[in-house]
Amino acid sequence: MKKIIIPNIEYIKKQHYDYCLSDSDILSVTNNLSEEQRKLLFIEKPFDFSRENCLSLKYNFINKFPHDYFSILIKKYNKFRTAKNKKKWCGTQFIESLNIDVCPYCGMSYFSVVKKKRQNEYIYIAEATIDHYLPKEKFPYLALNLYNLIPSCSACNTLYKTTDGRKIINPYFNAVEDCIKFKLDSDDIINVVIHNKNINKIILENLCNNSNMFEYVDNHIEVLNLVNRYNKRTNIAKSLIKKKFWYDNVFINQLKNLDIGISECEFEDFIIKQDLYNSNEPFAKYKKDVWRQIQYN
Ligand SMILES: [Zn+2]
Repeated sequence: MKKIIIPNIEYIKKQHYDYCLSDSDILSVTNNLSEEQRKLLFIEKPFDFSRENCLSLKYNFINKFPHDYFSILIKKYNKFRTAKNKKKWCGTQFIESLNIDVCPYCGMSYFSVVKKKRQNEYIYIAEATIDHYLPKEKFPYLALNLYNLIPSCSACNTLYKTTDGRKIINPYFNAVEDCIKFKLDSDDIINVVIHNKNINKIILENLCNNSNMFEYVDNHIEVLNLVNRYNKRTNIAKSLIKKKFWYDNVFINQLKNLDIGISECEFEDFIIKQDLYNSNEPFAKYKKDVWRQIQYN
C-alpha cells in the first residue's frame, strides 16, 4: 500500500535499458526509433494522471506500426521475468533492487528473493510476480516499461486484477495508504473487550479529495477485493484490541510492582506497540488505523 520509491533510480534505469537493447530481437523492432522513443518504451514514465490522453500523445509514433509490431516485447518480458541467472539483469534482480518487502497493491503479503540450491549452484527466486499495470496484451509496447512493471503478490496479479480493466492506483506514483482508512464497527470493539467476540466487519473508507484519483482509489479497493480480503484477517484487529484494553494501567502498575526490570515504556513498546512500528510489514496500514481508532474509542 506504500508508494514505491525506486532506489538508485539511474542505475536501475541503465541496467534495464542496456538489458533491453542487448537483445537482438528487441533491437530489430526498435531499430528505426530515436533514442528518446526507445527510452519512452523502456525507462521513462508513460503515465500522467493529470492528462488522460497523455499516453497517446507521448506514444503517437506507435500508430505508425502494425498492431502486433511490438508483441516481441511481450515474449521478451517472459524471458526477463523468469531469468535464473542473478548476475544478469532480470525480473528477480529488478524486484530485489526495488527494496520493497510487501505487496504495494494490497499490503498483505511479504516479498522475498531467496536462494535455492539446484545441482551445484544456487539459483535465486523472487517470491513475487510482476504485474503489468496496463495490460501487455492491450499495450504491448509497455510490456517492458519499468513504470508499467509492478511487483505484486500473486493474488493481486493473477486472481483479481487480471480480469478487470478498471484503472487502479499505480504505486510508483501514489501511495494507496494515503488515500484510504480502515475502520471497525465500534460495537465490535466493545464486544471484543467485554465478551471476547469476533469482529464482524472491517470497512475501508476512500479519503481521496482529488476527483480524478477518487475513482482510482474506489477501483483499487473493488478490483483487488480488499474489503473481503481484509475481513478474512479480523483476528489481527482483535489481537490489537485485546492488547490495548487488557494490558491497561492496572496491569502495568501490577507489572511495576513485580520489579522484573521492565519499564512501563518498554512494556508498551515491546508488547503492545511492537506490531505498529514497522511500516514495512504486511498489514501495517490496517494495524495503524485500527490502533488509532481504539485509542480514541
Ligand atoms: Zn497484493
